[in-house]
Parts: sequence; C-alpha cells; structure tokens
Amino acid sequence: MYDLKPAGLFALDRVRGNALCMTRMERMLGALGKTVDDVEWITEGNLPEMVKRLACLWPPTEPPPGTPPGYTRPLVFTTMEIGAQRTNLAPLQARCGGQAGLLPAVFGQMTAVEDQHPHVRDRQNDCVCWPTMNFGTVMGCPHGCLYCGQGRAGKLLAIALNLEEYMEKVVGPVIETYPWNKVFRMILHGADLVTLEPEYGLFDVFTRKLAEYEGRYGYFHTASAHLDWVADLPRRDRLIGVWSVTCDAVARDFEPGAGRAADRFDAARKCGEWGVPVRYKFKPIIPVRNWREEYARSIEYALRRTSPESIGFCLYIWNSFEHMEQTLPVDLLDPVFVDAARKHADEMRGKRQSPFPHELRKEVYQFMIREVRRWNKDVLLYVSTETREMWDELAEELGQNPRAYVCGCGAAAVPGARLELSPGFRFSTYHPSPT
Ligand code: SF4
Repeated sequence: MYDLKPAGLFALDRVRGNALCMTRMERMLGALGKTVDDVEWITEGNLPEMVKRLACLWPPTEPPPGTPPGYTRPLVFTTMEIGAQRTNLAPLQARCGGQAGLLPAVFGQMTAVEDQHPHVRDRQNDCVCWPTMNFGTVMGCPHGCLYCGQGRAGKLLAIALNLEEYMEKVVGPVIETYPWNKVFRMILHGADLVTLEPEYGLFDVFTRKLAEYEGRYGYFHTASAHLDWVADLPRRDRLIGVWSVTCDAVARDFEPGAGRAADRFDAARKCGEWGVPVRYKFKPIIPVRNWREEYARSIEYALRRTSPESIGFCLYIWNSFEHMEQTLPVDLLDPVFVDAARKHADEMRGKRQSPFPHELRKEVYQFMIREVRRWNKDVLLYVSTETREMWDELAEELGQNPRAYVCGCGAAAVPGARLELSPGFRFSTYHPSPT
C-alpha cells in the first residue's frame, strides 16, 4: 500500500471480535510500520471525544516534508453494516454534535452497491453512459484531486475490513441478480482502492468471487501507478484496468499524491504484459494553459508504449462556474476557457456538463481524437457522460455507435474491446431504454 502517514489510527471496537478483520488490519498496519498497539479504539463510551478528534486531524497544519497532504488523512478501520441490521445513529449523533456527519463512515454505513446510470436518470440528465453495478468498501482517498470532494476535503479514510462477508452477502447476490451486468466497478465513495493494496486484499477476494461465475469481470479504476501487486494476483484474469489519465501539468498541480502522468502509463504497460486489459479515460480533462501541448505529449507517451482497448474523453464537468472558481486554481487554466465559462454561467447552470459550453467541449474532444489517431488508428474512442447532442455530432469522428459503444468501465464491455449484450440489455443510455 501507499506509504501513508496517517495523523491518527482508529478502529471501531467491534473489529476486535472478527479474526479475519483483525488479521487484515494488522497486515495493513504492518505495511505502515505500525501495530495494533498504535490504534485508538472507538467505543460507545469515548465516541464523542474520538469523533471530535477525527474532525480536526485533517487537513494537517504541516504535513511531513515530501508527503502529500492526503497521505496524512486519519485511517478508521471499521466493518461495513450490510443488510437491514444497522446501528441507529440518531442517539449517537445527538452526543457528537457538530461532528455527527462522520458517524456513517465510522460505523461503516456505506452504500453497498449502486447503479449510477439507470436509463431514466441519464435521460433526465442528458448524460450518455451505461448502467453498471458499482461496489465499494472504503470512504475517502489518499489522493488530493482538487476537482473531487473527497480529494479536496475528505476528513478520513474509513476502511471496511469485513470483505469476505461483503463478497458473500453483496457481491455474489448482485452477480446472480443482474445477469446482464458482465463487468462490475469497484469504485464507490470517492476512494482509489488500489492505493491500499496488496495488504487490504480487496481485489484478491473480489476476483476470486467473480471467478465463481462464468464470464464475469471486475474493474479497478485508478489515478495511481501503484499496480505491481497485480502480477501476483491469482485471478487477475477477471480484472480489467481503467486509468484516469492526464497530462503532467494536471497531475502535478491538480492531483497531489496521485501518480505522475507517465507513471500511470508505465503501470498500465506492465499490467497489460500480465494479461490485464488496459483502458484509459482522460477524465476530467482540465484545460490548463498550453493544454494542447500538454495532452499531445501525454497521448504520444501512452500510445508509443501501450495498446489500450479504448480511450475515453470528458472535459471537467459537474461544476458551476462559481464552484470551479472556488475549488480550482483558475489562474492555471487557459483564460479562453475561464472567460467562456464565466460568459455562459447562466446558460450552463444546472446542466450536468457545466461549466464549459458545448462548442468548447467539442473542440477539445476533436483535438484529442486527432492526437490519438496520429499514433493509433484502431483504438476504440468515446466521450464519457457527455450529452446526446455531443454524440450526435462526434459519433463519426469517434467511430462508434452511441447506442452501443465500447467504453472504459461499462457493464457490457468485456475483455477484448467488445460488447457482450443480452436480450434485456442492448443499449447505452443514449437510447431511451435498455431494450
Ligand atoms: S483519485 Fe478519485 S477519489 Fe481520489 S481524490 Fe482523485 S478523483 Fe477523488
């Protein structure tokens, strides 16, 4: 796992009672040069005091030299509450006052599984994607991406240790319930899960569970280069690797703690050599000054060394102009984009693809498509979570049908850059319904 320097190590008392969880926690602590003796146990009695401390341990006033601030987020080891039996937090929240917002994380009350792109919702949002079941067992991330709530301001990493139970009670039943979903994302809760491997052991139990079923696979989705552990993963044949990739300037100035742009491609090359399909997402594309030169260099580096199955594009979206101004160092952005976002702020307000207007986003995608085609004529291209209008205008240049396209992390995009569709699941959310 990453060489984290957590400002505190905490564990919910109930972890003690689960041998598998204790072993997992000890393994992770060992990787940090710590032991169970370094852990502060959270009990019913000391809960308010502990939560109060957790609330003020991050951001650090001064992180250790050379340590990205996100690496100092306190770690809270817990167990995920699966099913109906959940701790009633109301009385505890009353005792914890202003810090009560941290209680769901501390008690492992995370969404166990979720489809973030059902057809109806994407229709309402004018967003084209694929319905896909998402899993997740950690809240919070050591990376500090400025465009991400967890990256910018996440107070902690809450790590659910009961992975075997999660595989039996959640992942297995979901695989059986949704036969159309061939590939599943391990991604929820703003967490870059590969940063905790191999000691966390999530992708080992996940791929073993997938391997119990024919033709089912799982994605890791990462901004990291920390992937050497994949070489030893017994069932890596059930894994597909998706990298959020970028250019040097963005990795350096907007994604503190995440992998350098080139390092991600190097890690992908190695994973490809170990038989893991590789896919890239330039998402979010951040229009920094000199963005054309920056991204052209990144694309050349990637395609001179690797042959990804697909490459996707998505300009910075999901933010109003005002929120962008509050959360990003806009002085590092191309002024043409900042001016356009300011000028179109009212028109784009409330739209999923805000803050940049259609024509500017389209210009960026056309540039990225041309750059990729300079180095690779065949790799499958798509735009991610963009509008129907954008697909209508770019489908020919992208070379894919918006109703059924191979993307990076969709439910039907099985290894081999092909779609495995089924009677009840034939279309992306470009189409009004799945059939
Ligand atoms: S890697 Fe992903 S989850 Fe982590 S801070 Fe960056 S965007 Fe957020």
